[in-house]
Parts: sequence; C-alpha cells; structure tokens
Amino acid sequence: MVNGCFTKENEMKYVTLNNDRKMPVMGLGTWKAAPGEVYQAVRWAIKIGYTHIDCAEIYGNQDEIGQAVADAVNEGDIRREELFVTSKLWNDSHAPEDVLPALEKTLQDLKLDYLDLYLVHWPVAQKKGTGLPESGADMIAPSELPLELTWAEMEKARRQGKALAIGLSNCGEKRISALLEKAEEMPAVLQIESHPYLPQNELIDFCRKNMIAVTAYSPLGSGHGELLADPRIAEAAARLKVTPAQLVLAWQINRGVVVIPKSTHVERLKENFTALGIELDRADMELLDGMNKDLRYVTGEKFAFGGYVPAEIFA
Ligand code: NDP
Repeated sequence: MVNGCFTKENEMKYVTLNNDRKMPVMGLGTWKAAPGEVYQAVRWAIKIGYTHIDCAEIYGNQDEIGQAVADAVNEGDIRREELFVTSKLWNDSHAPEDVLPALEKTLQDLKLDYLDLYLVHWPVAQKKGTGLPESGADMIAPSELPLELTWAEMEKARRQGKALAIGLSNCGEKRISALLEKAEEMPAVLQIESHPYLPQNELIDFCRKNMIAVTAYSPLGSGHGELLADPRIAEAAARLKVTPAQLVLAWQINRGVVVIPKSTHVERLKENFTALGIELDRADMELLDGMNKDLRYVTGEKFAFGGYVPAEIFA
C-alpha cells in the first residue's frame, strides 16, 4: 500500500496522507467533461458515493463543477467536509506573484473556501495568459522560473489553509528529489499517468519510501480503447465476472494507488465506483503487473517548445 492504511467507511476506501488527512481512493476525473454535461456527472457521482473530484483550471469547467458541488451540499446530498476536492495550478501561473491569485480564482470558480489538495499541474512554466502553448514564445525557461519558487508559494497556500494539502503532477523521481532539497514541505500527493501499459512501479516505490501518496490519472487508458480491449484484460475480467474497466481500477486500488476515472455517463460512473469492492488475488495482480509497454497517452508533446523536452518533463 502507498503511504498508510486503508480504512473502509461505507463504500469508500481511503489512503492517509502525510498530513494525516484521508484521501478517498476513488475520485471523479473531469478532463474533457464538457460544460453542459459535467454538472450532471458530478451530481450523479455524489449520489453514487464518490466523495473525491479531480479538477483543474485548464479543463475550463470548474465553474459548473462548483455549482454542482454547491447544489449537492445545499440539497443535503453530502457535507463539504465529506468531500475531497483537488485542483491544479496551470502552467501560466508559476510566477510567485501569480500562484495565490490563481488559487483564489479556482476557489471562486469552485465556490469553495479551501481545496483539499492543490497540485502543480505540470513542471512547465508558461507566460501569463497562455493555455496550451503554441510556440516557444509562450514558454518560460526552467532556469528563469525554477519549480522551487512556485513550490514555496504552494507551501504558503497550505499554511494559509487555502489548500489542506499540496502536491505535484507529471514529475519524476529526479525532479522531486531536487525539489525536496530546497523545499520546506514534502508533497503529499503525486498525480501521474498510470494503467497496466504504464504501471510506474519504480516511481510508486520512490513515493512510498517518501510518504507521498500516488494518484493514477488516465487509469482506463484515456478513452483510447486498446487497453480495455486487451485480450488478457478481457479474459481475466470475464473470468472474475467484472468489466475490464473495473479490473484495471481494482488493480490500482489493490496496490494502494488512488484512481480518478472520468465518465459523464451514469452507468459507467456506477460501474467504475463498484471497483472499490473488488479484491484481486496475487495471480491476477501479477497478470496486470506484467503488461507494461511504457506507453503514455498523455505524452507531454504539447509542451515541447522553448527547450522543454517531453522525456525530461517526466524525469
Ligand atoms: P480515463 O482513463 O479516466 O478514461 C476516460 C475515458 O474512458 C472517457 O472517454 C470515458 O468516456 C471512458 N470511460 C469511462 N468509464 C468507462 C468504462 N467503465 N468503460 C469504458 N469506457 C469508460 O482518462 P482521463 O485521461 O480522463 O483521466 C482521468 C482523469 O485524470 C481526468 O479526467 C483528469 O481529471 C485527470 N488527468 C490529469 C492529468 C494531469 O496532467 N494531471 C492528465 C490527464 C488526466 P465517457 O465519459 O463517455 O464515459
């Protein structure tokens, strides 16, 4: 297990973070959850039992997610303190003077007083006001704006209680180790791409040793289809009388990794949530452990401008 123990409360399970707070192991992903759809998805998810929502400024849907959360709380579906809401600092706000204002904007959109977790979305700095970069002119060189300056502001956000925990995304061992030499606080969470084609065992071991919990993004293969159609997964899922999606989610949860599958369909939200109750034996864990292809669906190529190289981004 990564970092601490599971406790079971109702249907949800938790990992304990290095700040002693509990993070639900099943969250709702919201990337590409379109405005007009994401409100309903969040309302359904909360009714099904999801208590964790993964958001980001760059997804462009936080306002609608915030409305769904506010309505769910006001209508008594859930209490704020039962919810775990994550958001992420976009790359255009890494400058020290931009971090706290970016967090304030996210809180305003989400209609919250605090986040449960705030992540640096990418270890990539961009000029203020840029979305996905289009050229080197949109980028700020790492030497000009090193991650430790951004991280010091993240620490401030945590001390101010605006984010109860802080963490990183899309970083590897080398970058985290370098940051830790200068940081006052450890990241509580690392969010990385992970699924059977990209198990990330070494990075997860590194995190376990450093008391950093791991969240797997794109745990279903990000809609590319081939992972869930893999005959080895399909065969094992049929034998266990579960679906391929449930099997790959259960594999992560059984090894202590948090998952944030995205869906805007109620049946799939239920299907994915049910993975919480699936215990896999050693042979089935080893089957999925053995499927690595080092295959990234989120390649980092969108940031390959101005001296940023995808392989180095994830180092
Ligand atoms: P996922 O692996 O969660 O896959 C989502 C896709 O799978 C959608 O097309 C969804 O379709 C479909 N799907 C959902 N449930 C099922 C099911 N039971 N059976 C078959 N298909 C299913 O991909 P994401 O890339 O969205 O990753 C999840 C979340 O991780 C994101 O939404 C985001 O919150 C986060 N993320 C973070 C990143 C980062 O840089 N930190 C990068 C990428 C993702 P439908 O909605 O139509 O049901």
